[in-house]
Amino acid sequence: MRIPIIAGNWKMHKTVAEAVAFVNQVKDQLPPADQLQTALAAPTLSLVPMVQAAAGSPLKVMAENCYYQDEGAYTGETSPYALYQAGIHHVILGHSERRNYFHEDDELINKKVKAALRNGLCPIVCCDDTMARRIAADDKIHWAVNRILADLKGLNEADICNVTVAYEPSWAIGSGQSADSDQAEEGCYLIRQTINDMYGEDVANNVRILYGGSVTPANARAMMAKSDIDGVLVGTDSLDPRTFLEIVNH
Ligand code: PGA
Repeated sequence: MRIPIIAGNWKMHKTVAEAVAFVNQVKDQLPPADQLQTALAAPTLSLVPMVQAAAGSPLKVMAENCYYQDEGAYTGETSPYALYQAGIHHVILGHSERRNYFHEDDELINKKVKAALRNGLCPIVCCDDTMARRIAADDKIHWAVNRILADLKGLNEADICNVTVAYEPSWAIGSGQSADSDQAEEGCYLIRQTINDMYGEDVANNVRILYGGSVTPANARAMMAKSDIDGVLVGTDSLDPRTFLEIVNH
């Protein structure tokens, strides 16, 4: 029902030439998109050449960020409208590096999520596991994932179906110390429960939730086998075409 996704996040790595060479190297070795979706998020400069190189293959090209306004006097920002028009239909939002180094808060990320959706982009919203006690509609106390309450606030049901969430405990990102698959499953389960409280079971069962943080070819299979984990967001091990393909073929 929920097609799994393996997505790379290159961060600020690779020149345009390197990015295009990578796409050309992997694009004919990917599974059909109705079985497993594959995507790469790359620096803005490389996106259009990568879309051109990936044309006709199952690989999706994603932006790593966008602004919350469609256009205007915002020097240095990237328009979600222009991304969509250029054939880039997915964007990572709320990555912990954006939150920590560029001081993005939940309010800004919520605006960016809405701007992405308004322009046809599907966001992958990254969140950690900071929790809140919350009284849900059934008057019971539920534990909810704060970032989900804040970053997805005000979205309607149609919108939320175009959102993917990535559970990324900050201590696991780039540290070489992944969560074990049970911890990762628990985080993804809590995110799904939070969405369940906000939008009901049908919606929660349709939203894809990924795990991210030191995913490698050695741990991808155990992650992907968990019932609430619908895929992985891979940083370091997506930079080499061989390790990326090993994770795809987990
Ligand atoms: P990592 O990065 O795989 O290098 O831990 C993951 C991420 O930042 O999404």
